[in-house]
Amino acid sequence: MFKLLIKTIRIRKIIPFCLLFIFLTIGIACFSSFANSDEETSSSDDEQKNFIRWVDFNVIAEALNLTAKLDISSHQKNLNLMSEKGENVENDNETNIEYNWIELLAYLACMNGGNFKNFTSKDLDVLVTKLQNGETMEDLTKNMKFYDYYLESYSAVLGGFIGYYKIEKLQEDGSKEFVDCYGLKAFLPIAKNYSFSHYDDFGNSRSYGFKRTHLGNDLMGSIGTPIIAVESGIVEHLGWNQYGGWRVGVRSFDTKRYYYYAHLRKNHPYAEGLEEGSTVKAGDVIGYLGMTGYSIKENVNNINVPHLHFGMQLIFDESQVDSPNEIWIDVYQIIEFLKQNRSEVYRSNEETKDYARKFDIMESDITE
Ligand SMILES: [Zn+2]
Repeated sequence: MFKLLIKTIRIRKIIPFCLLFIFLTIGIACFSSFANSDEETSSSDDEQKNFIRWVDFNVIAEALNLTAKLDISSHQKNLNLMSEKGENVENDNETNIEYNWIELLAYLACMNGGNFKNFTSKDLDVLVTKLQNGETMEDLTKNMKFYDYYLESYSAVLGGFIGYYKIEKLQEDGSKEFVDCYGLKAFLPIAKNYSFSHYDDFGNSRSYGFKRTHLGNDLMGSIGTPIIAVESGIVEHLGWNQYGGWRVGVRSFDTKRYYYYAHLRKNHPYAEGLEEGSTVKAGDVIGYLGMTGYSIKENVNNINVPHLHFGMQLIFDESQVDSPNEIWIDVYQIIEFLKQNRSEVYRSNEETKDYARKFDIMESDITE
């Protein structure tokens, strides 16, 4: 009993000292980590690989449209000049400026901090006037701290959308012939002449299995609507996933974008012959709209409203795949932008009820 009393007194005396010691240690640790935070992050960055870890894509459809138009018309002008005059094209400053829409967008992002909410066409006019007066993007952006970041992240989002390609066009005699083009070569994921509706539902909360945020855009439409590959690439995943149901994942050729198409049709989710490793071309039919998913069991319709879930993941480093650090962007404005380019389809197989594209495309980076 006596021994116990001494022990308690000793412990009571020791406890305040211990607490003081603990608080002091924590305090010093916090202060030193705060003071050295710059140094520590830079030294750990040296050890880690240097790649972009986060992107908020806030460019609105109007800004995408206006910059795309400048890019496309300036290239087309030069294409026409070259085909008309051959190699005798005079170097006329005004006709030969070729705009790059991603550079224009990256510049605008530096001016508005990546927030395009208050974007007006005047912002772009100011930049275009400067370029027409002979200033270069290099000069204009050399002191912009975040220009390289925006250029790289927007290139990851939009890199495969605009460029040179060949596409079949209907001739007067009814035949089809490939024509050289420069323009938008990414397609809306819903086939031409099929209606759909959507709203910006990125980040909304969903609760199958556990509470989580919605990392894409739902395009509501009729069951069986042909689903179109937005961009060319390789089928990376195909099959059942308890959240997405029957789904297809396509990786762009530059490996920066992973396109996710989910909830495809029960019993007939995919286009004929599509499998993991297949090459798909922008505008190809890859599957059919449905309501599968939210079930561990395969081929189950557990979604209330038929829709395509469309998502885009950015990959700057392979370590970001299947990790807690995945970057999914809000594609709502991209869908709005892509409404101007839709792939026309026809029933190509009466027996299997499959559809195929009407007009084929050729791109230089597709090797078949
Ligand atoms: Zn969805």
